[in-house]
Amino acid sequence: MSYVILDLEWNSSYSKTAHRFVNEIIEFGAVKTDDAFQLIDTFSVLITPKIGKKLTGRVKQLTKITNEELAEEGVSFFTAAERFAEFLGESVLMTWGTSDIHALIDNYRYYNNDDGHIPFLKRYCDIQEYCEKAMNKFDEGSQIGLGVCAEMLGVSFSEEEQHRAESDAALSLKCIQKFVDTVPVDGFVQQADCSEFYDRLLFKNYFITDLHSPEVDKNQLRFRCDHCGNYARRVKRWRLHNKNFTADFVCKDCGNRFTGRISFKQKYDEVKINKRIVAKPVKEPDAKQEAKEQ
Ligand SMILES: [Zn+2]
Repeated sequence: MSYVILDLEWNSSYSKTAHRFVNEIIEFGAVKTDDAFQLIDTFSVLITPKIGKKLTGRVKQLTKITNEELAEEGVSFFTAAERFAEFLGESVLMTWGTSDIHALIDNYRYYNNDDGHIPFLKRYCDIQEYCEKAMNKFDEGSQIGLGVCAEMLGVSFSEEEQHRAESDAALSLKCIQKFVDTVPVDGFVQQADCSEFYDRLLFKNYFITDLHSPEVDKNQLRFRCDHCGNYARRVKRWRLHNKNFTADFVCKDCGNRFTGRISFKQKYDEVKINKRIVAKPVKEPDAKQEAKEQ
């Protein structure tokens, strides 16, 4: 088995015909490895942009790619994608995080005007997830960037070379190489030529804001007293505030009063529940009252 690590550079451009911003891909860069993750080949191609004729300042600064280079050396998106598909062959495709896959979907949607299906994508592995899990640092809420990961692993790289597609792909490879002997990549490779892959990738998580939703497990709305462990009685209505439901409870057994807080996050295949007890704020005696009492 071989692997291809792909990295893309893109320029966000407003399309007047599509009436939306498109992350227009301007460069494909990739490295190919054998099954032991040793480098065997490299790939690089520039694309002449069709939507945004001029690169944004940020992209120019970050990638050091010039408009002239793109005009002179670039090919069309489809030519670049075809050349890349040939380079990829039957290899597993890998990218650092899924934003490159989103960019590909975005470009296919724009040029093909269809569902954004990526024709060469058969088997896929997210390197960011692999490295984060291998380091025991996986957290959906905060993802580790490639540069930061490389630094954490003591992988040397020049800041100047970063943010060009092929060198970023090579840097991703150096990060993978730190773990391949201890954490098999196989477990992270998924089948990607099916609608489930796209459904999962494009699913947008959201917070459920209606307690009557069938997705809400009503049993979760019960709270145990944090003093004695018995079920407490809810004494006020549920209130929704910042995606959290809160309600006041009182324990029948020990009289403890507390506020229960819970949120329900709908994900592709589960509802993630975040539930905790927040102590009732102790009312500060007001200054006037105190003065009177003295
Ligand atoms: Zn109690």
